Amino acid sequence: MEDPLERYRAMRDFDSTTEPAGQVGAADQRRFVVQEHHATALHWDLRLERNGVLASWAVPKGIPPDPRQNHLAVQTEDHPLEYLDFSGDIPEGGYGAGSMSVWDRGTYELEKATDRELIFVLHGERERGRFALFHTNGKQWMIHRMDPPQDPGRELMPKGWRPMGATDGDAPPDDEGWAFEIAWPGRRGLVAVEGGRATVTDRKGDEITSLYPEARALAAASGTTMFIVDGLFVVVGDNGRPDPQALELRAQARNDSARRRVVARLPATFMAVDLVWLEGHPLIDLPYDERRRLLADLGVEGPQWQTPAHHVADGAALLEAAHAQGLAGVVAKRMSSLYRPGEESPDWIAIT
Ligand code: MN
Repeated sequence: MEDPLERYRAMRDFDSTTEPAGQVGAADQRRFVVQEHHATALHWDLRLERNGVLASWAVPKGIPPDPRQNHLAVQTEDHPLEYLDFSGDIPEGGYGAGSMSVWDRGTYELEKATDRELIFVLHGERERGRFALFHTNGKQWMIHRMDPPQDPGRELMPKGWRPMGATDGDAPPDDEGWAFEIAWPGRRGLVAVEGGRATVTDRKGDEITSLYPEARALAAASGTTMFIVDGLFVVVGDNGRPDPQALELRAQARNDSARRRVVARLPATFMAVDLVWLEGHPLIDLPYDERRRLLADLGVEGPQWQTPAHHVADGAALLEAAHAQGLAGVVAKRMSSLYRPGEESPDWIAIT
């Protein structure tokens, strides 16, 4: 009989990778692992112990949490059982180069297995429930959650939301109950992150994802956490100040290669200012201060994304500081204000 790991071994150089060469195991214990793999494109590898090896699928958007949303699963070569515990960095130049970590592990019950379909129940640390993997075409399969979501109140991510706008005006006569933020001179967008992928929507409702690859990096760094965050893409110049002209230069790139060059030269930082949807739940009916608390907990802090502080009361001092930095002004936000996608809010005031 042919060695089921032959293909696995042929694809790797075991002098350079720390992955196991492995052997075919004996009696199956029905173990499984899901690994988060930051390769050229982020994906999650689902591996089920079957016939002495790990039958494997690469799932670009991860294990679907909701039966209403099936995810593509691309079958890959069988892996050795030792891979159940594998995490680490696969060196550059090798197959699957990038970091791999264990996202979930446990055991499963197999309810049905044919060449074209597997039905199984996962008993993992994170994933619990019944799933179907079914073959569609070539190496392509789909994974479907058969049980209701683990969180029974979970909703699908809304489509078509646009950022809420501020109205121009004067500082509120009394700071009580207001927070103040720097008015960043940048491109406003809602960044929707799902399955490690980002979609950016601007004030007009246009999708501008391709203009801001920084959002893709933010999404990849967020793993399987799903959220919609409101903020601004700002290019900070050599003098440490936001540079609106640099942002304009990026927008003028005529094609992909020109854009790659200008993005590399003038990287943007995403300044997160609000959180409007999180893990299956809209936050738009929560007050601003509650949303800001959840935003702080989410921890949008990275090389090209930040959560600048908001300042409760004392707007005059922040306005003065903004002017001293050469910035146009501040935005006053009523602490009790709800989020109304696409609307101009009288509870948000742009002050110059
Ligand atoms: Mn992989």
